[in-house]
Amino acid sequence: MALIVQKYGGSSVATPERIKQIADRIIKTKRAGHRLVVVVSAMGDTTDELIELMEKVNPDPPKRELDLLLSTGEIVSAAILAAAIQAQGEKAIAFTAYQGGIITDNIHTKARIQKIDTRKMLEELDKGNILIIAGFQGITAGDTITTLGRGGSDTTALALAAALQAKVCEIYSDVEGVFTADPRIVPEARKLKQISYDEMLELASLGAKVLHLRAMEIARKFNVTLHIRSSFSEEEGTLVR
Ligand code: ASP
Ligand code: MG
Repeated sequence: MALIVQKYGGSSVATPERIKQIADRIIKTKRAGHRLVVVVSAMGDTTDELIELMEKVNPDPPKRELDLLLSTGEIVSAAILAAAIQAQGEKAIAFTAYQGGIITDNIHTKARIQKIDTRKMLEELDKGNILIIAGFQGITAGDTITTLGRGGSDTTALALAAALQAKVCEIYSDVEGVFTADPRIVPEARKLKQISYDEMLELASLGAKVLHLRAMEIARKFNVTLHIRSSFSEEEGTLVR
């Protein structure tokens, strides 16, 4: 049975309706006979709202407490998605990064993943669970919660895909894939079927916000096949390999 990692960005989990829709997609993938690890971002603009909330009481938010606060956004998504999947009769369990064994350094608000202890995750997969993991967060060796930098759920997904030797890491957002130009500005822009890691990194360095830069670096280093696609359609997106 192949293992697939799927990552859903903020717009894909923005409302209960959207969460129910992606629950359907996740269950379909599971029932096609795959082991499935799902990484989620915070719902919609939650992260921005949490930052604003803390700034109301402290214009210079302490980084440790900011990380603790921001980590809640992804935990909400993970718990709600697992509940939505269970409502449809499929087994799912939600994990924080702590429960998932995602160990980082202690650089608050831009921590780096140092190691992933996959034991507990593999146990849950062996029990037939769909594993839902809160993205963007980690835990230090001293049990302090960190975050990986804005957009960091991509990095969680790629690091898990590398650690679990996933067949593919599917990145779901509201864009259909990687285009030759920004389709909102250039109407004749085409969606690419396939692109190389180097070409993707080049796009990222030119400012195209397709994927968190660190996520791309992990993909290239560990040779993870990436599929960048939309959670709003069944169309194939762009393969990066
Ligand atoms: N929720 C975090 C952010 O908005 C992480 C992510 O979406 O990947 O930056
Ligand atoms: Mg977000």
